[in-house]
Amino acid sequence: MNTADTAHNEGPSAFAQAAELELRRVSKRYPGQREPAIADLSFTVPAGEVCVLVGPSGSGKTTTMRLINRMIPISGGDILLGGSSVLERDPKELRREIGYVIQQIGLFPHQTVTENIAAVPRLLGWRKDRIAARVAELLELIDLDPGEMQGRYPAQLSGGQRQRVGVARALAADPPLMLMDEPFGAIDPINRARLQDEFLRLQNKVKKTVVFVTHDIDEAIKMGDRIAILREGGVLAQYDTPREILAHPADSFVAQFVGADRGLKRLSLTTLAEMKLIEPNGMHGEPPFDGARRVPRETSVRDALSLMLSENGDPLAVVDANGHVEGLFTLGLVEQLLSDDAEERPAPSVPSELEPARGRREV
Ligand code: ADP
Ligand code: MG
Repeated sequence: MNTADTAHNEGPSAFAQAAELELRRVSKRYPGQREPAIADLSFTVPAGEVCVLVGPSGSGKTTTMRLINRMIPISGGDILLGGSSVLERDPKELRREIGYVIQQIGLFPHQTVTENIAAVPRLLGWRKDRIAARVAELLELIDLDPGEMQGRYPAQLSGGQRQRVGVARALAADPPLMLMDEPFGAIDPINRARLQDEFLRLQNKVKKTVVFVTHDIDEAIKMGDRIAILREGGVLAQYDTPREILAHPADSFVAQFVGADRGLKRLSLTTLAEMKLIEPNGMHGEPPFDGARRVPRETSVRDALSLMLSENGDPLAVVDANGHVEGLFTLGLVEQLLSDDAEERPAPSVPSELEPARGRREV
């Protein structure tokens, strides 16, 4: 039997596969439900980007994921993966091309780590040596020691390790699209932050098209190239980059959802390297920076602000990788950054008449 090389003939090291995902006027009404779970939802995720779907509980995030991989039938509209409608695909085949990561569930308890990761390649009929090579490569990618980990069962792993194996399993057949539904939802905050960082590093290497669901706006801001904010009834409130959403929320629902501290959140997206710093006053030596605390240029403006606040508001000396001082960073520059944002376009703060009145907000 040789089905090994159907859609996956690029060899185990090619992480090139990623496809554009487009939702076109998608709607979903569950049988017996009076209101649709998804109404007229359209957005496009460019190949290789992370789109975070965020919204209050019941806003249709999981429903959207299930529509994309055809676990449930669509009521209207179309979904295109790599330019072709998923509605014309055999659902089983389609699902083998879409990595799916969900919290808790996921790993097969009676299979080892290796067997879990190999699940889809096995279904695709890959040869044994190819599967073994792929499993070893993936374990390395997610930073688990193959010798130690491959024979273990899920119950013998920590929550974080299980979640990483879940990601490896979803990546196994090099799918052009990954769906991740609250993948880190059940993990404690410290390990959650580590898994987020690790996923971002991994994504930097594999560059998949990813739809990532969360109800946590901070996670959305951290993980997303773009964020789709859903409101109740599965209506798209805004689809934009994290920066745009924080600087210019489309309406009061979005403004409320991103939180009153959106200015601070915005500061976490900007690093000192992107700021125009105060020049060393024409002088080319160290004197003006004497005593100023030194921080690397990669520091976020938010972290720089908290450092300054904990040191009486004194300026910081921003240094490059060689320890060379590039300039001074002051509270005034933070203020300027925030007021620049505000001037561009004032954010709506009063409820707009265009908003549906029935919106129940559980934020
Ligand atoms: P989220 O993942 O954003 O919390 P869901 O997609 O799970 O939201 O649910 C969206 C809406 O659809 C909710 O009102 C939910 O009650 C409803 N719903 C979800 N699954 C079903 C189902 N199988 N049958 C009927 N209604 C459902
Ligand atoms: Mg859900």
